[in-house]
This record gives sequence, structure tokens and C-alpha cells, in this order.
Amino acid sequence: MSTYQAPKGTFDLIPPKSATFLAVREAMSAVARRAGYGYVETPAFEDTALFKRGVGESSDIVTKEMYTFTTRGGDSLTLRPEGTASVVRAVLQHNLDKGALPVKLYYSGSYFRYERPQKGRYRHFSQVGAEALGSEDPLVDVEIIMLAAEAFRDLGLRQVRLLLNTLGDSECRPVYRAALQQFLRGLDLDEDTRARIDINPLRVLDDKRPEVRAQLTDAPVIADYLCDACKAYHEEVRSLLSIGGVAFEDDPRLVRGLDYYTRTTFEFVHDGLGAQSAIGGGGRYDGLSQELGGPPLPSVGWALGVDRTVLALEAEGVAVPGSGRGVDVFAVPLGEAARHLLFGLVQKLRRAGVSADFAFGGKGLKGAMKAADRSGARYAVVAGERDLSADVVQLKDLESGEQVPVPIDRLVSTIKEKLS
Ligand code: AMP
Repeated sequence: MSTYQAPKGTFDLIPPKSATFLAVREAMSAVARRAGYGYVETPAFEDTALFKRGVGESSDIVTKEMYTFTTRGGDSLTLRPEGTASVVRAVLQHNLDKGALPVKLYYSGSYFRYERPQKGRYRHFSQVGAEALGSEDPLVDVEIIMLAAEAFRDLGLRQVRLLLNTLGDSECRPVYRAALQQFLRGLDLDEDTRARIDINPLRVLDDKRPEVRAQLTDAPVIADYLCDACKAYHEEVRSLLSIGGVAFEDDPRLVRGLDYYTRTTFEFVHDGLGAQSAIGGGGRYDGLSQELGGPPLPSVGWALGVDRTVLALEAEGVAVPGSGRGVDVFAVPLGEAARHLLFGLVQKLRRAGVSADFAFGGKGLKGAMKAADRSGARYAVVAGERDLSADVVQLKDLESGEQVPVPIDRLVSTIKEKLS
């Protein structure tokens, strides 16, 4: 073991589990690609001001959780704590908003928050996100929600629930905010929470402490304060989801930690995860572009948590197809001549699209077969002097243990046939 360990709140992705992470990322990305979302990749750090502005000065992320540093040149940069602000910045910088709308983009990468680490909550974590920018059509909200639901379904998760709410807009939200503030001021709350009433009262609704929750039962709910336009918009989203067969639960207390959210807001939760149950979330952020100095650009998006989705798969005991397997074929040469021949066959198999590995280091039969087992391969190809003089190799099915000689020039086609 080395003197060094991965930093607190982080972990290494190593085989075989890393394959599940890749499969989860791929399933989440695939649904977006299928729906015409193009891939966007932004830097892992940005000007600190972008997140202060785009995530919100009063959010927990900005006040407590950012990894901010000063460069040697004296600039303040921050490791990205989330993806949306960077994507909007990139869209505006490259004038994508001047082309066909909505601009549909997806991304996949690492995010950084200085949180108190626990199961499902890390300081370095992985998200796949999708954003549709420049459209105020409820069908876009519905499309984006359906894509996330589809990703979880494709992965085989069953215990996923979709929670839905609306946060109103710049017309009705302030009225609700004032009513909520008035209600909260009458409660018995600690000093920190009282301070929150002024800067970010909606976040108090999100407080998980039982003594706070108990006092919130009669809190005013946004549904009673929506303006006609927001009410109609939300009703349409709800009915379109129902028509589309997407089950959801209305959750009037669902708020998001980020200040730029308006109207539709949603979260996917998994019941097998305990406290950190959110496996993805998102919503509309009609005000963000202007907040960043751009034109009005009503937009909606989500970010799905890869790490927690992997935990959810484990909780349900679901194996992601293709993620637990090693290579298709492992080659075991016995003797120098076989080493050269099999190494060539391995190249041939790979070129033919069959994944293949090789017992390096001149191991004996026992050691090499152990390596084959460990590799998770479906088949071993074994050959010694006697096989070579008969122009065959031995093809061993590592599941059944059955072994047959196969002519060398027919090995690739035989394996391809068996694998299909
Ligand atoms: P958020 O940007 O906070 O809405 O996060 C979107 C999703 O990312 C959440 O639903 C989680 O699945 C995941 N996520 C957020 N923060 C963390 C974290 N610290 N560790 C692991 N996953 C996280």
C-alpha cells in the first residue's frame, strides 16, 4: 500500500465496478443522444463569479460547498459544483442561442462540492446532464422528464419515483415568498434557519430535521399563489406527463437548492438509498441566461447522479447488462511457439471485434488458467506444441468447462459464431 490515499469524500473507480459506472453514464447519455441532444464539454473550472451569479449567492453550494482557488495569475476560479451555469455560459459565448431553438445539449463529467461525506454524498461525484435552451413549450419539460425516466427504466431500476412541483415565476413567486417568510417568522427556529428566511426562504421547506418539519405542516404552498400563466403551464405539464404514461407524485414542498429555477421542478428519488435518496433532479430555469448577461432564454434541464444510480442498482440487485463481463476470449499459450501464434490470433480476434486478452509473462498452464478465470472471459484458447503441429488450438468454454479442438484458420469465425 502507498503512503497516499484518495482524498476524503472521493473514491477510485476500479474494475469490475467501474464497468457499471460506465454503463450507467452510457445509458443516461444514450437517451439524450437518441432525442437529438448534442454533446457539450466545458472546463472543469470556471470563473468563480459565474457560479456565484448562476447558482445563487444564497445557495448552500455557493456559501459553503465550492472549491475555490486563486491562480498564480491572481484569478479566482472554482471547480464546477454543477453543470447548468457552465452550459449556459458556453451557449451564450458561442451564440448557439442565435440558431435553431431549443438548443439541446447533454454532458457527462465530474463535479465538486465540499460536502460532509456520507454514503451517496461525495466531494467528487459524477453527473450526466441534459439541457434544452430557448423554448417555453411545456412539451420540452415533458420530453426532458421522460428522458430521465427512460434512462432509469433502461437500466432496470424499478423503485424510482418522480416528484413534481412548480416554483412559479418572477410574477407569482415573490408573492408566495413573502407569504412564506411571514409564516416562517412565526416559528421557533434556530438562528441559522432564521437568517435563511430572509435570503432563501424556500430552502427552509427543504429542511430535513424533524423539529423543523413538524412546524412546516401548515406552511403556505406555492400552488395557492400561482399566477394564471404558471398554473396553466403546470397543468399542461401534468396532463402531458399523464398522457405519456409517466407516473409522478405532486410534491408541493419540492424546492431546489439553486436560485435560478422557475416553474417546473422535479426530482427522481430511489427508495432503497436512505437519506441521500435523490438520484436526479432538474427543472426550468427561465431566468438564468439574463442573470449571466444574456438575452431571455427560457430553458429546462436535468442532472442525474451516476454514483447514486449505481448505489440504487446495487440496492435493487440489478446487474447492468454487459457491465459484469470481462473479455470474450483469453489466450493461454504453452511454450514459445504458441506464444507467438496466439499473440497473433489475439490481434486478429480484436480486429474482428472480439475482445481478447493474453496470458503475458510466460506463466505455466495453472497460473495462466487462473488468469483466464480472473479475467472473466467466456472462452479460453489454449495451445501447446502438439496442437500447433496439428494446426489446431483448444477452445475451452469457461462456463461449461467443455473443450474442443478448432482449426487455427477457423478460430475467429468459430468464436464469432458462438458469441452471436
Ligand atoms: P443537484 O445538482 O444537486 O440537483 O444534483 C443532481 C444529482 O446529482 C442529485 O440528484 C444526486 O443524484 C447527484 N449529486 C448531487 N450532489 C452529490 C454528491 N455530493 N455526491 C453524489 N451525488 C450527488
